Amino acid sequence: MADKRDYYEVLGIKKGATEDEIKKAFRKMAMQYHPDKNPGDKAAEEKFKEVNEAYGILSDAKKKDLYDKFGHAGVDPNSGFGGGGGFGGGFGGGGADFSDIFGDLFGGIFGGGGNSNARRNAPRKGQDLQKTIRITFKEAAFGTKKKITLNKSVECPSCHGSGAEPGTSKKTCSQCGGSGKVQTQQNTPFGAFTNVSTCPTCHGTGQIIETPCKQCGGSGKIRKDVTISVDIPAGVDNDNIIPLKGQGEQGINGGPAGDLYIIISVDKHELFARSGNDLSLEIPITFDQAALGTTITVPTLTEKVTYKVPPGTQPGTVFRLKGQGIKSLRGNKTGDLYVKVNLEVPTKLNGDQKKKIKDMADAIGQDAYTKRNKFANCVKKMFN
Ligand SMILES: [Zn+2]
Ligand SMILES: [Zn+2]
Repeated sequence: MADKRDYYEVLGIKKGATEDEIKKAFRKMAMQYHPDKNPGDKAAEEKFKEVNEAYGILSDAKKKDLYDKFGHAGVDPNSGFGGGGGFGGGFGGGGADFSDIFGDLFGGIFGGGGNSNARRNAPRKGQDLQKTIRITFKEAAFGTKKKITLNKSVECPSCHGSGAEPGTSKKTCSQCGGSGKVQTQQNTPFGAFTNVSTCPTCHGTGQIIETPCKQCGGSGKIRKDVTISVDIPAGVDNDNIIPLKGQGEQGINGGPAGDLYIIISVDKHELFARSGNDLSLEIPITFDQAALGTTITVPTLTEKVTYKVPPGTQPGTVFRLKGQGIKSLRGNKTGDLYVKVNLEVPTKLNGDQKKKIKDMADAIGQDAYTKRNKFANCVKKMFN
């Protein structure tokens, strides 16, 4: 793993080569190093494996993209990118899919032990997809419907997934006679062994496509922009994930389609902050309002309500408006709205205003401030 060669170098092409150039280079290299042409040649066998691996990555748009961005780390199933749990999975598979490239070209030349063909041919779930949808704070609270467009693989409408050009039929595989299985004999120092493996020519299907479908090139699927409508339920929050079963990439060899994961991204609100289903809000009031009491206007997500602030309200006081938060995603509970009252102190005052404030302070005197007096007494005691 340590000093893996660059995949482009392996195929003898430059970065940025077209799909066609990659395919051509692979054909050339694979023919040159094919074990059937180089019996017993270990070096050729290694090269052949290397070429397969390189083509497996560079022929797959997604893997190629990862490789171009992150090098070998991007496509190594052990490295944390791709593979494994969660999103972007479905990598792994390994070597190239020969069905489209060699099916008609090589005929029966592929004689080697093809145990990886068995796995390649098995029905597999299509790749999962993920898509982030941005919604407003209010849409998260009340739910919404969004249309999204995805570019994904779908069944080819021309051949309906068979891979054969309409009007043509598949013929029975000559190598396995339609059984999909072949026997190979392996001579080892311990004697000869007979292996039954998946037919490498037809990959176990028992049939060969003679005329590949023009629209999909014989793969049975095409990439297409698909628009779907997503119901986003009321109460969703940032980073919530909505799974949509079967909306991912088309399945492989008749396997089920992958899933689509919608990731919710909620825009911040100018006034409200959210914690679970509760909302909070800070409202600035003035000294005279706090001292004398007042009626303030409190916005909720849907309307304006009035709230009576009692005389003598201290800054930082929090009051609660029950049921004015967000309806919970599950169940019928609704959060509350917590309103914090803050004191705003004016910063630009003219001489006359300053004098009036001074006069007011003198008129109120020191005895009106209980907390302040208590604090001053404590400090005095500490240093006496
Ligand atoms: Zn087709
Ligand atoms: Zn066959």
